[in-house]
Amino acid sequence: MYSPSMIESIRRLEASRPFRMKETLSAMSPQEKQATLEKYHPDYKKGMMRRLVVGPNRGGEMPNEVADLLESYSRLDPEKFDLSRIDYDTDVLIVGAGGAGSSAALIAAEAGAKVLMTTKLRFGEANTMMAQGGIQAADKENDSPALHYLDVMGGGGFHNKPELVRALVLDAPIAIQWLEGMGMMFDKEPDGTMTTIHGGGTCRKRMHSARDYSGGEIMKTLRDEVRNRGIEVLEYTAAVELLTDGETCTGAVLFNLETNDYAVARAKTVIVATGGCGRLHIQGFPCTNHYGATADGLVIAYRAGCPMAFMDTIQYHPTGAAYPEQILGQLVTEKVRGLGGQMVNDEGKRFIYELETRDVEAAAIIRECGERKKGVATPSGRSGIWLDSPLIDILHGTGTIQKKLPAMHRQYQRFGIDMTKEPILIYPTQHYQNGGVEIDERCRTALKNLYVAGEASGGVHGRNRLMGNSLLDIIVFGRRAGWEAGHQAAGVKAGRLSLEHVKNYHRALAEAKVPPRRVAPLLLPDYRHTA
Ligand SMILES: Cc1cc2nc3c(=O)[nH]c(=O)nc-3n(C[C@H](O)[C@H](O)[C@H](O)COP(=O)(O)OP(=O)(O)OC[C@H]3O[C@@H](n4cnc5c(N)ncnc54)[C@H](O)[C@@H]3O)c2cc1C
Repeated sequence: MYSPSMIESIRRLEASRPFRMKETLSAMSPQEKQATLEKYHPDYKKGMMRRLVVGPNRGGEMPNEVADLLESYSRLDPEKFDLSRIDYDTDVLIVGAGGAGSSAALIAAEAGAKVLMTTKLRFGEANTMMAQGGIQAADKENDSPALHYLDVMGGGGFHNKPELVRALVLDAPIAIQWLEGMGMMFDKEPDGTMTTIHGGGTCRKRMHSARDYSGGEIMKTLRDEVRNRGIEVLEYTAAVELLTDGETCTGAVLFNLETNDYAVARAKTVIVATGGCGRLHIQGFPCTNHYGATADGLVIAYRAGCPMAFMDTIQYHPTGAAYPEQILGQLVTEKVRGLGGQMVNDEGKRFIYELETRDVEAAAIIRECGERKKGVATPSGRSGIWLDSPLIDILHGTGTIQKKLPAMHRQYQRFGIDMTKEPILIYPTQHYQNGGVEIDERCRTALKNLYVAGEASGGVHGRNRLMGNSLLDIIVFGRRAGWEAGHQAAGVKAGRLSLEHVKNYHRALAEAKVPPRRVAPLLLPDYRHTA
């Protein structure tokens, strides 16, 4: 499957393996890290961000693609849209049925609230379903939430909101127990204890997993439980605008993607759990995300007056597939490096310690393939870095890859590449939005009765999330949002429904001379060639 020049490069990698197996690379100093980031990480590339001119983050910078989306017009005409017919009336409306939304739904229902969950695609079609490597929690004897806290803060460049990190690490063991109690099949040792491994930037082995389809296992567990408890879920139904009474959130306008009909949902409290923005393809990067990752929740919350936190920082996963073209940008889990897979350039040399944080790893790969010109060329002219996957079986015994990375092994086998015998080629890919709607530790936002959880929220990961902390974040803050919104709803009377905030936002856009052709939320990415 590899081209002749790639095969030659593989020979150099194999020749250097005995030396590399004895080689120790040390971690970078904080100064080296910062210098590498500033020079090579896409977040720092000139001309790729712009200042917002409208809304709560006016004056702040964000990637051009995100800024354009936030500063866009509604899909609705707020002057004419009919809000007099209420199609759904509920206590808690949850927008987005991934891991965060589903966790919220279960806990809100437990709090006694009537819950309606609406989701853009099929129930389970979400980034959560695609997650591979695992979920962090400090629940081993040699670990503690305090150590976990320090790792999360260090990974985020110490910019993280401390109260959110505190909540994350303290609730983490409960999250694992909760999932296991509902039937999630975690990887275990023969004595029944949970298997845990390292991720980039962790000082202890605290990554819990279900092979390399950990998110799939979590999503299926949550989805079964939501269905078992009879919680109502609308599929193919996207929220396109929030509703307010001027001061509090009172519901949302929904759009049915199958019938093109709009519906009005009135709610006492609303939780936005719409996930990330991978499908914006920032700076033209490929992405790992599912098709619905178009930042819809950010758009509608921003219009309703909620500031964003850390949306000027995007996570590029260092190991996206660079070859074959059919899987370009798809994720190669960090677990491959966690298990000992080394990153190797065209000369057969390592160039960075493999378990640095993701931002630094991605920047170093971009440097190696760009400025240093030591990447491996693909037949279509791309450049990538080898991930020496056969080393995993050499280090841990034959069969380790098939046991611990079965999905990844299958993914490559489909294209005639046996990753137990041949390395795989990688390059950074857009993976995660480090920021999102600003929340507090109770998932509250600037708009009363609106809560946000999961990847759509910002603050907990600071400027860079560590592996395994997002699956954790969606469970911890999904549960917290569900508890808050569920209990809060009991004391709220159904409010007036208005799109006044959208009218005001349109006015502000017009004053700032933003062209009316920009319309959002996108709902789905547009891959048509218009040239
Ligand atoms: C390939 C891959 C591997 C990953 N591996 C890991 C890992 O090993 N460990 C880890 O911690 N993290 C991992 N992550 C990150 C993690 O999986 C996600 O950040 C997390 O699952 C997001 O959960 P969520 O509930 O916030 O969003 P999602 O799971 O994406 O769910 C959001 C839901 O909202 C719906 N939605 C969107 N817009 C609307 C709208 N307008 N109206 C209604 N519904 C809407 C979407 O369709 C989707 O169903 C991975 C991510 C990817 C893509």
